[in-house]
Amino acid sequence: MMRYVLVFLIFVFSMFAKPVIVVSIPMQKEFIESITNDYEVVSLINGGIDPHTFEPKISDMKLIGDAVAYFAIGIEFEEKYLDKFKAQNKNLKIYNNDKNIEKIYSNHNHDGHDHSQWNKHVWLSLKNAKIIANNIYESLQDINSVNYDSSYESLIEKIDSYDLKIQNLLKDSKVKEFVVFHPMLTYFARDYGLIEISIEVDGKSPRISEMMSVVDGIKKNNIKFVFAQREFSTKSAELIARESGAKLEYFSPLDVPLCESLYKFSEIISK
Ligand SMILES: [Zn+2]
Repeated sequence: MMRYVLVFLIFVFSMFAKPVIVVSIPMQKEFIESITNDYEVVSLINGGIDPHTFEPKISDMKLIGDAVAYFAIGIEFEEKYLDKFKAQNKNLKIYNNDKNIEKIYSNHNHDGHDHSQWNKHVWLSLKNAKIIANNIYESLQDINSVNYDSSYESLIEKIDSYDLKIQNLLKDSKVKEFVVFHPMLTYFARDYGLIEISIEVDGKSPRISEMMSVVDGIKKNNIKFVFAQREFSTKSAELIARESGAKLEYFSPLDVPLCESLYKFSEIISK
């Protein structure tokens, strides 16, 4: 008897279950959910995971098998996996939420040849977040032509108001540099005319000499905070903070809500 009840419940549940959209990172889920509640949104990468080395699990592939759409954001694993997602689910619609974003390229040399790779952290900028919001809005319209105009406009208004709040905070601040573990706030720095100093160089742990030059920079520019990330080892950031007398703070690139997270970061660096 119990078994029949259970089968019946699963049947009823599946009748009312919402269609699933899978996304790469939490801020995409946040933005979709602030535009509509019509979907069950699942983010593959969540807090505490390093997005640069992430690979989908079998359970993620199963989820994608049942999804209506995948929203990509341009991070590393997508290059290899978007084709696999499509193979897993022929009806899956794939949208690139980083479309129309002007990428910042960093050139570095490896064994005598140039690697030109854009900085992947496109979402850590409210200017870019507006473009992402627009891409998400258009993708949702494409899946299902429901009118989401008013909730989309509220989202844009929220981003604009935080952008203005951050501009106001930073314009009176004397310190124009900030120190982060890896170059994740490059677009943010561009938006507000700041200088990002990164501890990690080209994805490698810094050498002592490189750490010492960061320490010198902190002292010279009177920088008060060093930002570590909980996703990674905080050892070098701790050492630099101790040597320079700066205070250790934390920033996670996956934190949501996005506007509030970037505002909190701005509040700290403008102190
Ligand atoms: Zn990163």
